Amino acid sequence: MRAFTYQRVTTPAEAAASARQTPGAKFIAGGTNLLDLMKLEIETPGHLIDVNGLGLDTIEPTPEGGLRIGALVRNTDLAADERVRRDYAVLSRALLAGASGQLRNRATTAGNLLQRTRCPYFYDTHQPCNKRLPGSGCAALEGFSRQHAVVGVSDACIATHPSDMAVAMRVLDAVVETVKPDGSERHIALDDFYRAPGTTPHLETVLTPGELIVAVTLPPPSGGTHIYRKVRDRASYAFALVSVAA
Ligand SMILES: Cc1cc2nc3c(=O)[nH]c(=O)nc-3n(C[C@H](O)[C@H](O)[C@H](O)COP(=O)(O)OP(=O)(O)OC[C@H]3O[C@@H](n4cnc5c(N)ncnc54)[C@H](O)[C@@H]3O)c2cc1C
Ligand code: SF4
Repeated sequence: MRAFTYQRVTTPAEAAASARQTPGAKFIAGGTNLLDLMKLEIETPGHLIDVNGLGLDTIEPTPEGGLRIGALVRNTDLAADERVRRDYAVLSRALLAGASGQLRNRATTAGNLLQRTRCPYFYDTHQPCNKRLPGSGCAALEGFSRQHAVVGVSDACIATHPSDMAVAMRVLDAVVETVKPDGSERHIALDDFYRAPGTTPHLETVLTPGELIVAVTLPPPSGGTHIYRKVRDRASYAFALVSVAA
């Protein structure tokens, strides 16, 4: 692991200012994905901004009748929330289909959205990977894996996004709230949040460097039947081969 500096922040403005002052800095929340990637030197931030003290860990009703989920709400707490279980059951089911109890206790809403692909060639630093090292090629195109994408691919990358939660949030028309390093705020529909790989698979979302997620908002409940179906190799602790939210 490369050496890095570490800072705890207490307000979104402080976090954004720190990101602005320190190019190459990364936010850290639960750390369940970022720390693994740092140990493998796939991610090498020179500065970590710990956002766990921002107080963004509540789930509040919105004036429109929806829910505003703080970026630091843990996956366990979101899945167990009475309103989520009743009105957004697809989200609760998707969360409970992901990872393990211990990981969900630590993993956060924002971190889950921004976790990186589980393509095995992305994790193997001896292999070419345009996402890890732009321009190096894609070992998966001629390689072997059961977890790659069949739609939304390009000649540069065929990786999938591994989040169960994001699939459910997409079907619920969730909106991501952010603060940019210059202090400006914006709302991004989840439908517009992720980029297709194209020729730049290392750019995974429309977030700009240092942009902090503060919350995810759900519109008023739509009712109906909520289904989350995940096909995987084991009943627990396995990423999806295919997942569907409806
Ligand atoms: C063994 C294992 C099995 C797993 N199985 C599944 C599974 O089946 N399904 C599934 O969906 N997930 C699975 N996961 C992934 C897990 O859900 C993610 O690691 C977790 O959700 C990431 O959240 P975190 O808070 O720990 O993020 P971190 O690791 O802290 O951060 C992840 C990324 O988000 C960024 N970030 C964090 N917070 C913010 C913020 N507020 N604003 C901007 N950027 C931010 C960080 O800079 C980093 O780039 C598994 C993980 C492991 C280790
Ligand atoms: S599919 Fe994407 S993540 Fe996997 S090796 Fe190819 S470029 Fe890298």
